[in-house]
Amino acid sequence: MRIRRKITPILLGPPMLAFLPAVTLATFWLGGEVALLTVALGMPVLFAALGVFGGAKISYVPRDSVTGMLLREGFEFVLEQVHIETDDTNLRSAVMVLEIDDYKDLVSRHGQAAGDSVVQRCGERIIETLRDKDTVARIGDSKFAICLTPVQQLDLELTVQLAGRLQAALEHPIPLDGASIYLSCSIGFCMRSRAPGRSPAEWFTAATAALGEAQHNGPSGIRAYSADIHRRTKARSDLREDAAAALEGGQIQPWFQPQISTDTGKVSGFEALARWSHPVHGMIPPATFLPALEEAGLMEQLSQVMLYHALTALKAWDAAGIEVPTVGVNFAMDELKNPGLVDRVKWEMERFELAPARLAVEILETVVSDSPDDIITRNIIGLGALGCQIDLDDFGTGHASIASVRRFNISRIKIDRSFVMKADRDPEQQKLIGAILTMAERLELETLAEGVETVGEHALLAQLGCDHVQGFGIGRPMPFDQTLDWITAHQAKLQDAPVIGKLRS
Ligand code: C2E
Ligand code: CA
Ligand code: CA
Repeated sequence: MRIRRKITPILLGPPMLAFLPAVTLATFWLGGEVALLTVALGMPVLFAALGVFGGAKISYVPRDSVTGMLLREGFEFVLEQVHIETDDTNLRSAVMVLEIDDYKDLVSRHGQAAGDSVVQRCGERIIETLRDKDTVARIGDSKFAICLTPVQQLDLELTVQLAGRLQAALEHPIPLDGASIYLSCSIGFCMRSRAPGRSPAEWFTAATAALGEAQHNGPSGIRAYSADIHRRTKARSDLREDAAAALEGGQIQPWFQPQISTDTGKVSGFEALARWSHPVHGMIPPATFLPALEEAGLMEQLSQVMLYHALTALKAWDAAGIEVPTVGVNFAMDELKNPGLVDRVKWEMERFELAPARLAVEILETVVSDSPDDIITRNIIGLGALGCQIDLDDFGTGHASIASVRRFNISRIKIDRSFVMKADRDPEQQKLIGAILTMAERLELETLAEGVETVGEHALLAQLGCDHVQGFGIGRPMPFDQTLDWITAHQAKLQDAPVIGKLRS
């Protein structure tokens, strides 16, 4: 096997291939027809015996149509050679895996043609940065694999420096349609001397795991493989699997946080917030498991679960004769990219016999401001046209234009908690909130302040004319079963205390 691996490249190297016609001709001159036939028929048999045709590895090496680079298969072949070479000698090498950060967003914003041209440019820059004998392949939409040609001197520091140079090369602006695109990339690598296991595949997997770690800490991360990374990668993939199983098994369900009107003090809605009640670890917050579900591609499924339970809750409040006008559900970017979203929501509302206006679709301001692609735009407009309320979540953290607020038919803005914190004691905060409320009033948008924690903040927001408030100061997120008691207690409190009135009305 080893000998074959060593002979194959020699036999198939450019010199040998160049001599092939000459060899054939010479046998005819020297040995006549019989010799010619022997060589003509024998050579393919010899090549077949070496397995050359088998993997289409060398006789035809497929290349990427965009960058002209090797693909994964060709890369694996080279990797195998380098793995052997570095096994037998003191030569050193490293495998790197590089991925452009946020490439999907780039394609959804500028289109596939722009994406291709960016990848092509990046490929050229990677090649320019490396030495001639290093091998580069395109192994994914925005992913490149690099195998450094074995040399005497290569250590961790030199490899990190090279990764840094690759990053710098890709960070130069890329001209596109008269504008400039700014990119970053993450790089994981594994030194041959640190590669786990004994196979080239394990070496490559280690570099890929290092990339995962770089991206986890990214953008623009660089990480070298260590056994530690292996453990962390494993922990993350365990979390992914556990979260997927929890979603499937019904352990992830919404809790509900009340929203109240500053005018009347009455409940104006509840926001459904995902909670994982873990049999061993207790309550796990969304910050921990949402990224895992996102990586597992399960955000759409989460939305379905959340919508189902949120509408079930509305029906239950209705049946109990309690007035809860709306329920808010958070819609992730992935869900908003689903072309069947509007039909599905319509179908769910009909199935539950609920008016679409009772569903408040919460969409992050950052999603709206990042000039979303056609499907997202159509979905938001479609949900609005269906009659759903559209809430712009975390308002103030993105930069949604007034034009997009109009275009998407936003009904309400949810002022981010960062503006609300200590607003009653900080004049700067008051100015900002005042400006947002004035804008909302002009645009005839409803307003809700998030993260209201104290009576002081609540009173100030009411005085400034904010329509609704939500926060720990009013009520923490709670399981559905507790909402009925909470509403009863809240109503009792309302009857006892005067409502904090608005100054302006
Ligand atoms: P969000 O949509 O901005 O939700 C409000 C978050 O602020 C919730 O955190 C809530 O518990 C917290 N919060 C509410 N009042 C206060 C307060 O007075 N003080 C402080 N410090 N925090 C307050 P939670 O439940 O941990 O959710 C975090 C984020 O996770 C949410 O932010 C939302 O973006 C996301 N999320 C939650 N559930 C879902 C879901 O079902 N789908 C999607 N796509 N995202 C979800
Ligand atoms: Ca929200
Ligand atoms: Ca929010």
